Amino acid sequence: MLRIHNSLAREKQAFTPIESGKVRMYVCGLTVYDYFHIGNARTLTVFDMVYRWLTTAGYEVKYVRNITDVDDKIIERANRNGEAIEALTARMVAAMHEDCDRLLMLRPSVEPRATHHIDNMLGLIGDLVSKGKAYPASNGDVYYAVREFAGYGKLSGKSIDDLRAGERIAVDGHKRDPLDFVLWKAAKPHEPHWCSCYGEGRPGWHIECSAMSRAELGETIDIHGGGWDLQFPHHENEIAQSEGASGKPFVNYWMHAAFLNMDNEKMSKSLGNVFTTREILVKLDPVQGGETVRFFLLRGHYRSEINYTWDILQEARGALASLYTALRDVPPAPAADFELDWNDPHARRFHEAMSDDFNTPMAFAVLFELRNEINRTRDGRLAALLRALGGTLGFLQADPAAFVQGMAAADETAEIEALIAARAEAKKARNFAEADRIRDEIKARGIILEDGAGGTTWRKA
Ligand code: AMP
Ligand code: ZN
Repeated sequence: MLRIHNSLAREKQAFTPIESGKVRMYVCGLTVYDYFHIGNARTLTVFDMVYRWLTTAGYEVKYVRNITDVDDKIIERANRNGEAIEALTARMVAAMHEDCDRLLMLRPSVEPRATHHIDNMLGLIGDLVSKGKAYPASNGDVYYAVREFAGYGKLSGKSIDDLRAGERIAVDGHKRDPLDFVLWKAAKPHEPHWCSCYGEGRPGWHIECSAMSRAELGETIDIHGGGWDLQFPHHENEIAQSEGASGKPFVNYWMHAAFLNMDNEKMSKSLGNVFTTREILVKLDPVQGGETVRFFLLRGHYRSEINYTWDILQEARGALASLYTALRDVPPAPAADFELDWNDPHARRFHEAMSDDFNTPMAFAVLFELRNEINRTRDGRLAALLRALGGTLGFLQADPAAFVQGMAAADETAEIEALIAARAEAKKARNFAEADRIRDEIKARGIILEDGAGGTTWRKA
């Protein structure tokens, strides 16, 4: 029996889908204005793991992950690049797919794009206006009237009055209450806009998820996921919109992935510690890289924060390589002779761990026990079991010899990182001769250095 921690109930609950054997799952996806960073990658990978495990557990899953392709950040970036919005979002969607593929994520069943669902959003806004839960303002915006929704604050555990007292909310003459949030924004010059009965405009962010979830999955869904930060206001507002319109529960199980930090600090652009997934992947061996990052992202429990440093990633790589080394040294029994038997004691413990709110650290511990046993007994059936269990979460499907060989290349990477750090130290100490010497040494290895505001990056020539 699968148990899931439901953020709304604040406890683990037995999972019972609306329709027997089927799961309707919606996850808030990316805003496509840039390459996604390693924190985004964590949330995306966590829900890929959930999707894979639900499928392994026998459910037929419809997994919807939206793409936000119109918003302030996209408009601003496209203007800055001198690029059409559609060109920027097309480029970033293609890059997102490339990076997700490298992290061995399965494609969701549907990836609806906000700009393809404007009619559905307007339909939902119309329902809310006719029920008195939303109102058009004189400036052409349409707002949600939070006071009209009795359950507002139930997910984040905040009451409307606390929110008013606690948050500094700008007073806006067009809103009836400062907490009211925008569903439809009146058109501004040089911004994308669509026709509506409220005038020309574009949707607010929150409405897209309620509208696309309703269009793809119906009024009540089984699982809704996203990063921990989205609980308030985004998911609180989604509940207000969806339940305000349908009068039915919106989501039966809310799941939130904890944050990834950088060097134990919150990742933020202003601290300059944001790394895109791509810039990490280029420094890793092509055979090992994606799976190593995936392993690093999933070996902590999804509700625990994890910390990213280069060293921690290297340590994860070594651990994963030790599983592959066992598979290289003890070839798994051929697929034709092997079927995953969930009654096997290892498989059962793996299953129990995953069924307990997707406890990947416990599940991985079973894989490491199996590795030890394979190394001791040299039993090809155990090797086949290791590969099959890893496979349920997207691991251990590469060629073991090629994976282990990648270690040499990866060690070279570690050496280059160390040289770059030494050069930075030398520069700091104003020892420019030494800094130049190290630079030449790096160059001699066929590496190009790029010094930027956020530090030095490198690539192979
Ligand atoms: P955004 O494109 O900023 O809307 O974020 C896309 C997804 O990534 C959301 O589900 C966020 O909650 C999640 N996210 C953003 N930053 C982090 C982080 N540092 N760690 C984990 N998830 C994150
Ligand atoms: Zn959303």
